[in-house]
Amino acid sequence: RKALLNELKGKENVTLSGRKINVYANIGNLADVGAVLKNDAGGIGLFRSEFLYLENETFPSEEQQFQVYRQVAENMAGRKVIIRTLDIGADKQAPYFHLDKEENPALGYRAIRICLTEPDIFKTQLRALYRASAYGQIAIMFPMIISVEEVRKIKAIIKEVKAELKETGIAYRDDVETGIMIETPAAVMISRELAKEVDFFSIGTNDLTQYTLAIDRQNEKLDSFYDPHHPAVLAMIKMAADNAHAEGKWIGLCGELGADLTLTETFLEMGLDELSVSPAMVLPLRKKIREIR
Ligand code: PEP
Ligand code: MG
Repeated sequence: RKALLNELKGKENVTLSGRKINVYANIGNLADVGAVLKNDAGGIGLFRSEFLYLENETFPSEEQQFQVYRQVAENMAGRKVIIRTLDIGADKQAPYFHLDKEENPALGYRAIRICLTEPDIFKTQLRALYRASAYGQIAIMFPMIISVEEVRKIKAIIKEVKAELKETGIAYRDDVETGIMIETPAAVMISRELAKEVDFFSIGTNDLTQYTLAIDRQNEKLDSFYDPHHPAVLAMIKMAADNAHAEGKWIGLCGELGADLTLTETFLEMGLDELSVSPAMVLPLRKKIREIR
């Protein structure tokens, strides 16, 4: 890693033919930020905020969340930090949510569905995020989106949150980028309409593969069938990229597939603007990009 770092530190992620792309890192908690900086990632492309909820005995307070988001933003010193709102349910359970046992949890009450049903939980997180936005370059994204209506509801709640902060004289940035994860076939199929509503997309290939192929990503018995290289999955990624760009929006990819170096060239050809991978894969990916024509 040292040799790679010396070779790449401060260098652009540009192909031999001059195409540039951002390489960011995925993190799961505050302690991971050190690895992001050590591996010289351009930003954080996915901060899974769930850990705040999973490690707590009860709902994390606005103040507690604010402190974490602020520290991440400050430590990243101006580099972009894309924080994903609560993506709980299915495989990620916290007892104090009192979620019912479900027959099909992956298709169930989870992520944005919980947030839109329990707006108080959602607003607490959004207030913390907007407050933290005054301390760095925070962007916010929403998981498991399937409709334009969901995005409009989210935007209405954000408007309320901002108005409340303003009224009480609490600092926040007005230009925080907001985006959605593209991880359902529904979101891909309506991505042209969704792109009109948001600043960016980020493709979650783990769930997009699960929902496109109808294969439970948790079921080890199906590992040999779970194929993120399936042409249907790649066609979904391309469609989302084309529709984002048709509306002048940028698109990243933050699922595990971003670290698959056999697909880097394909992703560049599709015009993806950002790839976000685990910190350990940042330097190998950056090296790979610089070798592509
Ligand atoms: C994904 O679904 O690809 C993703 C990045 O989110 P998670 O793995 O947390 O569901
Ligand atoms: Mg996901």
